[in-house]
Amino acid sequence: MTDLVLRESLAAARARLARALADAGRPADAARLLAVSKTKPAALIREAWRLGQREFGENYVQEALDKQVELADLDGIVWHFIGPLQSNKTRAVAEHFAWVHSVDREKIAVRLNDQRPAQLGPLDVCLQVNVSDEATKSGVGLDALGPLAERVAALPNLRLRGLMAIPAPAEGLAAQRAPFARLREALEALRTRLPEAPLDTLSMGMSADLEAAVLEGATLVRLGTAIFGERARR
Ligand SMILES: *Cc1c(COP(=O)(O)O)cnc(C)c1O
Repeated sequence: MTDLVLRESLAAARARLARALADAGRPADAARLLAVSKTKPAALIREAWRLGQREFGENYVQEALDKQVELADLDGIVWHFIGPLQSNKTRAVAEHFAWVHSVDREKIAVRLNDQRPAQLGPLDVCLQVNVSDEATKSGVGLDALGPLAERVAALPNLRLRGLMAIPAPAEGLAAQRAPFARLREALEALRTRLPEAPLDTLSMGMSADLEAAVLEGATLVRLGTAIFGERARR
């Protein structure tokens, strides 16, 4: 992708989010864009930063660390880890990211808490929830979410910000909205259960279903393809 194409696709993504928020009757600043840059070169991230984008999402630890070294001069850049997280990678994530969206078990949360360097302040965390009907892979089930959230909220070096989901692909607005509505309701229930926790984040919506997510209250939409173009298979 050239810088010129990136300029246009980033502007289009911003306009798309603005229109979705307006259509949902929500304030223009009620949701922000997380640019998902996995598999994309550091030079494109630098260009997106130059165009005002500050928050970037990465899925693969080593790839992200390499880009962070190259981009260490970019003021105000915020790195979000959004991919599956194994125990042996928690230290690198605790030391090099501001956010993690994919916490779905206590063991990973405890390791992130224990490995977070004190001088960086608390790590912002979302719990990944499995909200699709099909028996899918990642994410804590809705039944186990409350107890997990209580344990994570008690860890001093983590800040429990909210919930994240990657629903199974669906066609049409109504079908896309249903799992996002479940995630919103789950966050509302957690706010009652944990009134002290800073639960302000619904990380949901990607290139294919941003509008449905914004209608259901997304505060952080994770756009990859719509900003950086198709990804080569890894
Ligand atoms: C890759 C990825 C995205 C971005 O997906 P697009 O369809 O390219 O917008 C968002 N969230 C997560 C967790 C991802 O892994």
